[in-house]
Amino acid sequence: MLEAAAEEESGGNSRFAGGVMRFAYSSVQDLKRVTELTDAEIAQSDFGTNTTEEYFDDLFRLTSFRTDPALCELLVTQSLDIMVWLRGKGVKFVPNFGRQSALVNGKRRFFGRLPIEVSGGGAGLVQALDKAAAAAGIKVLYSTRVKRLIQDGDRVVGVQASTNGRTAEFRAKAVVLACGGFEANPEMRARYLGPGWELAKVRGSRYNQGDGLRMALDIGAAPYGNWSGCHATGWDLNAPEFGDLTVGDQFQKHSYIFGLLINANGKRFVDEGADFHSFTYAKYGGEVLKQPGQFAWQVFDAKVTRLLRPEYRMRMMTKVAASSLEELAGKLEGVNPTAFLQTVRAFNAAVRTEVPFEHTIKDGRGTVGIEPPKSNWAQALDTAPYEAYATTCGITFTFGGLRIDPANGQVLDVTLKPIPGLFCAGEMVGGLFYFNYPSGTGLVSGALFGRQAGRGAARS
Ligand SMILES: Cc1cc2nc3c(=O)[nH]c(=O)nc-3n(C[C@H](O)[C@H](O)[C@H](O)COP(=O)(O)OP(=O)(O)OC[C@H]3O[C@@H](n4cnc5c(N)ncnc54)[C@H](O)[C@@H]3O)c2cc1C
Repeated sequence: MLEAAAEEESGGNSRFAGGVMRFAYSSVQDLKRVTELTDAEIAQSDFGTNTTEEYFDDLFRLTSFRTDPALCELLVTQSLDIMVWLRGKGVKFVPNFGRQSALVNGKRRFFGRLPIEVSGGGAGLVQALDKAAAAAGIKVLYSTRVKRLIQDGDRVVGVQASTNGRTAEFRAKAVVLACGGFEANPEMRARYLGPGWELAKVRGSRYNQGDGLRMALDIGAAPYGNWSGCHATGWDLNAPEFGDLTVGDQFQKHSYIFGLLINANGKRFVDEGADFHSFTYAKYGGEVLKQPGQFAWQVFDAKVTRLLRPEYRMRMMTKVAASSLEELAGKLEGVNPTAFLQTVRAFNAAVRTEVPFEHTIKDGRGTVGIEPPKSNWAQALDTAPYEAYATTCGITFTFGGLRIDPANGQVLDVTLKPIPGLFCAGEMVGGLFYFNYPSGTGLVSGALFGRQAGRGAARS
């Protein structure tokens, strides 16, 4: 394995990941194949389901029915199997009580259809898989950045890489490219995602520069999928340019469903309550990027601050608090205070107060007569103290990739013929995600298409 990063920064976006994983399950028995659950935990929890039908529906709905049916079918139908396989490789999974459940009538009710996460998050996942690789005798060369594919005729027979200041060639029977998208490359972001995307912050690894995509396209690989699309979320306004492994995913701000998102003009600009954050967060980062100054404040009142996710409590964040709306208006840096107060007054008057608030389901407590509406979890912003968090757009990964044969992960050329000796996996696989993404699918897809490509390469 050739890894561009030094060992202490290795592991890519996988290491930055929060570690939630979305797979199909229809019973507690399915969950018990993935994790240990005590009788008490089972008795006290309502895990819900994520049946293959629900998973298909979510993927098709969120991608506006563009997801490649063959890739999607493989992902959904083998998602439970890949979790069991990862467990067999030493990855430990645990119920996600902290972020995906709430106490309702004495029972833990899970929401968002993803009750399981990796113990230790993405870092725990990479640590366990590094250990499994070492045990299998796989050698990793760090600080070794692959630059070019080597071909003999059409067949890919190796790579050229720069390793510790010199150029070296590595010959192999097959090459699996698993080096991420172009999310960390501002020039490629502006070129493919559009003007302004060079201004986004990068949530994860700075090493995913689009190298693998570029070198494959250079030898005639077929581009596939949503090249102008990406996964991007609300992210602390003052977070560093790239991800910081000591902070992980903690700069993210996914509890906007309980508050208001306000731009520099003092206006709302999305339906904060359109769905659970799992189904909107990956596209709302892009909406923040479109706002003047590329920022938005997330505003909450005292009724909901207890519901905010744990990352809202970390010390390194851009937060203000106030004991009145007028005081808050003066503290929201960059925001027109008069327009903000008007927006709040109009919003408060539009809430359907006759519908009860219930945060573990889509409660239908929306607004009437304002644009954009808030479709669920709408409550008047009227109870001090108020809190607000400044966010910008944090890009996670890009959706455009290469076209593969789903059966073995082999890369196809522009005439749709397999390129001998070339395979790819993870973010580099194009065609799964368009416009949006259900949370927890990246790691499952990375593992599944990684296994496909590994097996394909071994057989080739
Ligand atoms: C902050 C954050 C939180 C996330 N949370 C979740 C989550 O909870 N659940 C989920 O499912 N997904 C999550 N994701 C998405 C998930 O991490 C990715 O979808 C997944 O890790 C992609 O895996 P990959 O193997 O394709 O790429 P990566 O894990 O990024 O691996 C790519 C590797 O290639 C190396 N590389 C790059 N270029 C070269 C080169 N030229 N030569 C050699 N090596 C190179 C990189 O250094 C890196 O090690 C999150 C992502 C981020 C950034």
